[in-house]
Amino acid sequence: MNHPDIVIVGAGTAGMPCAIEAVGAGARVLVVDQADRPGGTLHVSLGQLSGAGSRLQADRGIADTPAAHLDDIIRINRGTGRADLLARTTAGQGATIDWLMDHGFAMDPACPAILHLHEAYRTARTYWGVEGGLSVLRVLEPLFTAAMAQPTAEVRYATRLAGLVQSEDGRVRGVRLTNAQGESQVAARAVVLATGGYGGSPDMFARLTGGRRLVTAAMPTSDGSGIVAALGAGAALSCPDMFLPTYAAVAPPPGQHRVDWRQMPSLTPQVRPPWELHLTPLGARFVREDDDSVDRRENALNDLPHLSFWCVMDDAVWDAAPPLLPGWTEAELADAWSGHPSFVRAASLADLAQATGMMAETLSASVAAYNTGIAQGTADPMGRTHRPQALTGPGWRAIRMHGMVLKTPSGIVVDDQMRALRPDGAPIPGLYAVGECIGGSTLSGKGFVSGMSVTPALTLGRWLGRALAQEVQA
Ligand SMILES: Cc1cc2nc3c(=O)[nH]c(=O)nc-3n(C[C@H](O)[C@H](O)[C@H](O)COP(=O)(O)OP(=O)(O)OC[C@H]3O[C@@H](n4cnc5c(N)ncnc54)[C@H](O)[C@@H]3O)c2cc1C
Repeated sequence: MNHPDIVIVGAGTAGMPCAIEAVGAGARVLVVDQADRPGGTLHVSLGQLSGAGSRLQADRGIADTPAAHLDDIIRINRGTGRADLLARTTAGQGATIDWLMDHGFAMDPACPAILHLHEAYRTARTYWGVEGGLSVLRVLEPLFTAAMAQPTAEVRYATRLAGLVQSEDGRVRGVRLTNAQGESQVAARAVVLATGGYGGSPDMFARLTGGRRLVTAAMPTSDGSGIVAALGAGAALSCPDMFLPTYAAVAPPPGQHRVDWRQMPSLTPQVRPPWELHLTPLGARFVREDDDSVDRRENALNDLPHLSFWCVMDDAVWDAAPPLLPGWTEAELADAWSGHPSFVRAASLADLAQATGMMAETLSASVAAYNTGIAQGTADPMGRTHRPQALTGPGWRAIRMHGMVLKTPSGIVVDDQMRALRPDGAPIPGLYAVGECIGGSTLSGKGFVSGMSVTPALTLGRWLGRALAQEVQA
């Protein structure tokens, strides 16, 4: 297509619904994606959604409103998200859930529910498909394919945004693209960046997060290139200081960054109360391991300079406790204990200190204080109440954990019309952004609010597609 009205960069969680609605409303749309298939992060996302006022809530007799959802978000992130955008998206998220259901979404029968992976809502308004993010993709992909089959639409895969074309007055007039055929330029009245975050880019993550190491479950295609292109066109950067790690992943070997969600340790106390101690790299307690607030645990982890801690236990706990690593096969665990640098076994606490780099005195004081509390029935130094058995050895184990990235905080500053803004607050004409590329913290603030990445990407993506179609045809 030579003369689209709208170019949408990214056929992922936000880009697909944006394109479906824009084509449906009569716009001429070109979608490009550097991947060779649609879906973006939906291929790995848990796809947990949130929304108030859905038909499913009504069926279950759950009273809920967008205003109550918004209040709960503000409570969870202490008002650190963007109120105007939160109001817009929460107002539409119940309808997004209904829209997915209307198109055959395979909802898990337990929904809606209150979940504890992230700080819990007060009301049951989290939903998920039986296949996680893939269930969302199974709804979107046929609608997207049908939209792209229209004569007014085209999708180009394996095609990467190389830059934005601007006129002298700063208006964005199109995109520069690269693919196997070479470079090309496409003019358009509006360009939508729906390129996701930068959780696949160790360099960009380190630059924007004070040099910290990236441990990530994000897609490699979340490389931040859309954000970089927008900054190059004069856009402002949102939420640079709002990173909060997810608690937590087994630290991959040095030089590696990716973790597989299947291999996540079971660290949610409401799901598996802890049997181990969580200790800093020097061997000190830093968190109440059974704190029912994941937000408090994540903030405690964020205060550690290297985002890493040791999960320490003795052999007896490893054998008696419910599995700490339920997704690992026996063979994977055997391999890990015999060679993975994050898995350490030792005969004594002193040997464990030496092998992990913890200070021997600090490690043994942490273990002793925990054991004394259990033996004497006195309070745990960190206030922990789940203390199933003392850690006495012989035989000790430690697994190095690391704060992980599911979504990245910074991105392109937008107004409530999703127009990209310059640092002085003026819109960049012709440039729009939606999804994680506006910064995960723009909505979640300094926190991880359940369902507040996927559902806004769908809701605001659909809204933007309709709004732009009207605008370009006016
Ligand atoms: C393991 C995991 C679990 C998660 N669980 C949840 C959850 O339960 N609930 C929740 O709300 N959020 C969750 N998230 C976050 C959420 O899934 C993402 O924030 C969201 O899916 C991002 O949608 P998006 O449209 O912004 O980006 P994506 O879906 O990643 O789409 C971006 C697309 O842009 C393309 N692209 C990027 N750069 C370019 C370029 N230069 N040129 C061309 N194409 C480009 C990419 O190839 C990709 O297809 C999770 C994330 C992960 C990693």
